[in-house]
Amino acid sequence: MNEELRELYQELIIDHGRHPRNFKKLDNPTYCQEGFNPLCGDRLVVYLRVENDCVVDASFEGTGCAISVASASLMTEQIKGKTLEQAERLFKAFHQFVTEPESLDITMESLGKLTVLGGVREFPSRIKCATLAWHTLKAGLDHQDPSLVVSTE
Ligand code: ZN
Repeated sequence: MNEELRELYQELIIDHGRHPRNFKKLDNPTYCQEGFNPLCGDRLVVYLRVENDCVVDASFEGTGCAISVASASLMTEQIKGKTLEQAERLFKAFHQFVTEPESLDITMESLGKLTVLGGVREFPSRIKCATLAWHTLKAGLDHQDPSLVVSTE
């Protein structure tokens, strides 16, 4: 990766880490899931509003390092408007992208801004920070019970 691109990526992560998008509690979530990364101390709650198998709204709140907050911020931006199936596919693709990019079966372009988080591959301990919001999302979708708040520990 060239230096200019790397700096651009870092700026985007810092921006989303300091000024996270969709950082709030949703009023009427259909899914609500807590996630915790004990390695770093990141703790997030992801809220989703799903109607007709489509994510119509997504938000999160909590505390964590810049990577975990930026990742959650970018995730909520990306999954809004997606169907549950598309959101699930994006989860899988993002996970592959940061853990085993050689097996990625979609194009980098379809990951959009999420590719800025590829830098965490150089720092294995930060991969959990980058994927926390996504694992929390997945756990929330798998439970399918809005009254349940379960930690992913
Ligand atoms: Zn972290």
